[in-house]
Amino acid sequence: MNFFETSRQVTVLGAGMVGVSCALALQAKGWHVTLVDQRNPGEATSAGNAGVLSRSSLLPFNRPGLWQSLPRMLLRPGPSLQVRPSALAHFDFMWRFLWHARRQSFDITTVALDGLIQLSAQTHKAWLAQSAVQHRLRENGWLWLFQNDAAWRGSAFSREVLQEFSVAAQALHGQDIQSLEPHLSSQFQHALWIQDASSVDNPGEVVKAYANQFVKQGGVFHQSEVRALQKQPQGWQYLDASGSSHWAPNVVLAMGPWSESLLKASQFPSDFKAHMAFERGYHRHFKPVAGVTLQRPVYDTAGAYVLSPMVNAEGAPVLRMTTGVELAGRDAALNPQQLEAAENAARRAIPLKEAVEGSDWLGSRPTTPDSRPVIGEMPQCPGLWLAFGHQHIGFSTGPGTGVLLAELMAGESTSINPEAFSPARFS
Ligand SMILES: Cc1cc2nc3c(=O)[nH]c(=O)nc-3n(C[C@H](O)[C@H](O)[C@H](O)COP(=O)(O)OP(=O)(O)OC[C@H]3O[C@@H](n4cnc5c(N)ncnc54)[C@H](O)[C@@H]3O)c2cc1C
Repeated sequence: MNFFETSRQVTVLGAGMVGVSCALALQAKGWHVTLVDQRNPGEATSAGNAGVLSRSSLLPFNRPGLWQSLPRMLLRPGPSLQVRPSALAHFDFMWRFLWHARRQSFDITTVALDGLIQLSAQTHKAWLAQSAVQHRLRENGWLWLFQNDAAWRGSAFSREVLQEFSVAAQALHGQDIQSLEPHLSSQFQHALWIQDASSVDNPGEVVKAYANQFVKQGGVFHQSEVRALQKQPQGWQYLDASGSSHWAPNVVLAMGPWSESLLKASQFPSDFKAHMAFERGYHRHFKPVAGVTLQRPVYDTAGAYVLSPMVNAEGAPVLRMTTGVELAGRDAALNPQQLEAAENAARRAIPLKEAVEGSDWLGSRPTTPDSRPVIGEMPQCPGLWLAFGHQHIGFSTGPGTGVLLAELMAGESTSINPEAFSPARFS
């Protein structure tokens, strides 16, 4: 490799949706890319999610009105939010997260996320076709369900914001809900059908297909546990679990919920701190009752679960139920309370067979205080690029992140404004 080619070498750490997307986008721009993960691609957070890709995800959880509802949420914890004692270690995240519920911050976040979501949607479509898995995409939206008038009225702010952004959505009432999803029970009086949305039937398989495409096009995948990063006079070195060191002129850190721990374990001068916390969430699979299915993911706003029609690794149809937020330490013990509550609510919404044995799963949504991922070069650390903190929407926004990061690394003009995602806001 000559000097020019060496300087176009990059190692991407983490092969979830975000890391694989960065690898694919950089490869498309002519970089020599090595992708590193301790597991096979797409086996962590990017495998267990609800598989929803929606423009409605421009709405972050911290929004105007959160302050008023907070006392009720903390005094009477419900299925949408459980706070465990281990979350107190992230106190600095919590007050910053609440601070960003201000209108001014919300406005910056919604515009930024909408740009990233739209860029991602078009990139997903191109990559699904390129990787021959376009059959996994359903372009029929998703459905938010409300049990009564009060709950429907309570969603007015979200509906207004979606309207401001011209997100295609249709309100459904009474029997219209069953016309769209015939097997849902009649307990839901109102629904919002978000039409600017799609979903996939197996998120982990989509990441694997993208990673296979990356390797087919000449990319290198290396299975290794990364323990620390070290700054070198020319580039970066990472140490793996066997004690070996590996050098690269450029490194992209895309280890999702594990990204900030790696920065902490690595010692080099920087005042960067993303204050990330972990919005944990569970999933459980159910065998569908014969003839009973859903056409699209549904979100029961009272039960705070999403039920998505999926296909498991063996190709059999399952309904995947994902839960709301459990604020806790990333590695704290499992607490099945939220799963049980969600299952009870889901069984009232649609007939379900028994849960699939061994299907329970826990993942951590990696969330920054302003609900915006960190995408860009780390301050004071030339050649170290960051792509993590995608909270509830990293499966859908991985591809846009990859495209934006590759443009930034090439010094090109960017498809969307990168400012709101800049790591500089955390230093
Ligand atoms: C219950 C739930 C439902 C969700 N639903 C949706 C949804 O419908 N739509 C959506 O867009 N998003 C959804 N999300 C969010 C989404 O899953 C995440 O934002 C996204 O998967 C994050 O991707 P990532 O690539 O950053 O992280 P990950 O997928 O976790 O990838 C990080 C990778 O880093 C690797 N790694 C970690 N440590 C090391 C190490 N030391 N050495 C080497 N490799 C390492 C891991 O093995 C992993 O492969 C949901 C999340 C949850 C928990």
